[in-house]
Amino acid sequence: MTKSKTAALPGTGQGSRNLLIAALAILAVAAIAFLAPAQGYYLNIMMQAATYAIAVAGIVIVLGYCGQLALCQAAFLGIGAYCVALGTVSYQLPFFVGLAIAVVVTGIGGIFLGFASLRLGGHYLAMVTIGFQQIVTLVLTNWISFTRGPDGVSGIPRPTLFGFDLSGGSTYLALCLIFLIAVTLFALELKGSRLGRAMQAVRDNEIAAATCGINVFRTKTVAFGISAALGGLGGGLFAGAFSYISPDQFTFNESIVLLTMALLGGVQSPIGALLGTVLLVVLPEWLRFLRQAYLAVYGAAVIAIMVFLPRGVWGLISERFASRTPAEFGPVTPLPLLSQQVPGTSDAVLEVDGLAKHFGGLKAVDGVSLKVRRGSVHALIGPNGSGKTTFLNVVSGLYTATAGRIRLAGDDITNLPPHERTRRGLCRTYQNIRIFRGLTVLENVMIGAERPGNDVSGPRPTLERALAALDFVGLSKTAHLPVGDLSYGHQRYVEIARALAGSPEILLLDEPAAGLNLTEKQDMAKLLQRLRGHGLTIVIIDHDMKLIERVADQITVLNFGRGIADGEPKTVLSHPEVIAAYLGEPRNEAA
Ligand code: ADP
Ligand code: MG
Repeated sequence: MTKSKTAALPGTGQGSRNLLIAALAILAVAAIAFLAPAQGYYLNIMMQAATYAIAVAGIVIVLGYCGQLALCQAAFLGIGAYCVALGTVSYQLPFFVGLAIAVVVTGIGGIFLGFASLRLGGHYLAMVTIGFQQIVTLVLTNWISFTRGPDGVSGIPRPTLFGFDLSGGSTYLALCLIFLIAVTLFALELKGSRLGRAMQAVRDNEIAAATCGINVFRTKTVAFGISAALGGLGGGLFAGAFSYISPDQFTFNESIVLLTMALLGGVQSPIGALLGTVLLVVLPEWLRFLRQAYLAVYGAAVIAIMVFLPRGVWGLISERFASRTPAEFGPVTPLPLLSQQVPGTSDAVLEVDGLAKHFGGLKAVDGVSLKVRRGSVHALIGPNGSGKTTFLNVVSGLYTATAGRIRLAGDDITNLPPHERTRRGLCRTYQNIRIFRGLTVLENVMIGAERPGNDVSGPRPTLERALAALDFVGLSKTAHLPVGDLSYGHQRYVEIARALAGSPEILLLDEPAAGLNLTEKQDMAKLLQRLRGHGLTIVIIDHDMKLIERVADQITVLNFGRGIADGEPKTVLSHPEVIAAYLGEPRNEAA
């Protein structure tokens, strides 16, 4: 597999093509900048667009990639601007020192704001960011002895670099554009990186992300930090551009404008953000000839674009030119999908002892114990509502146990968070599929391959493992497709491939055949038998007795949260209590 082939993969950075487009788009902006009468008014507009676009790229990272709605980018723009303004004017620091302080201070501020995401999500987190925005505005306005209050700061100098004077209008604009290019390329690279994929996984499904081994809280915090730091960088450059700043330039209204820019251009892509920013900065200028009607027309235009282009202007363009041809891969080397284990040894991979989970008065799981031997398939069966899924949720760490102990390969994991359990080799699928819907099939499985604790080094093994896992479930041909384009049955396979790509110690499957038609069920049974043949340790929940009898070495039966039988399939399935509770009527009484 050549480098260029991997680089052209959809989603694995979207590689060189995107970079090229980015470079061209930015060159176009630069060309306009230099063709425009390089002075006064036009220059100001260009500088505003360039510095805003840097801050808007931050929104792409926190909202577009990580799915966290922050409504305070103008606050970070303001903090950055004031770092440079006060640093240079009040403390006579060199411009670039002020700019570095701006990036560091806002980055740290963003991380602290991200801490709020530990307890809060969605609307509540958005409210916190609004609160933060208002506090920053109040401080900038009222802490007069430090910020100079509503009068603002004037006389902000532009920099010199190694003796070069960068204070001329076009020279300073060029400096801003260089930063903008660097930020855009950084954001593009981030999207295809491991961290970027983790962010997108968190955006699409936090629970699945956690059980893929991603530290959700840390990922969000980093996204907030990077986003805020870009706000600070944009703000610092903004201060140099206009030599005068005041608090009213960084209010909540501005935050909404910045957000609109991102949404308008396309919040999933830094190129979209760039387009959106340029549009929203330039549009009012184009519409000035409308005089009084201009605000109304401007508003209507923005609404129209948002309504008819939900993925923004860039979403439309990139959809048009998206390649639908399957990426070509060389022959896939079957990788050791399974961790290096010795089948047949009888040590328990998973030991559960007296596990309980109560929801108020409801004892969903009530003192269940079981031992899963290495290399065996252990089935968990029982009527609907008997606590099977709840049991898996407690074992994988999504719920905390009310009582009991869980040991994985001898280590007590009862109190570990889900991603820590996954790091130790516990991987799972869900009864109701949880995949990363904004990503391609391949990207979904790559996230599984990137399981911490799975010894991958560098992007190539990740990709190869993912391809090998897809090949194992027979979906290589669909690697490039958005995962939502696949049938329900195939989405289940993607989920299994995602778990397999991480070479799990133990695989937990919650009703893998649920919702499948007859042929699909038969295929699933074959897949399970192949997995069993590889010696993978599996816990499987299913209702299909034929399937269970074919694949299971050991069966535990739950009823009303309690284990009522445990042992070899033949013995367990003929146990009278099991027949009564689960099968409803005695099986084959005559025999
Ligand atoms: P199964 O997977 O065996 O069909 P579940 O584990 O999904 O059963 O559910 C067992 C019981 O626990 C059910 O009565 C269900 O309503 C209850 N339950 C499951 N999850 C929760 C929850 N998050 N909060 C309250 N009750 C729950
Ligand atoms: Mg269930």
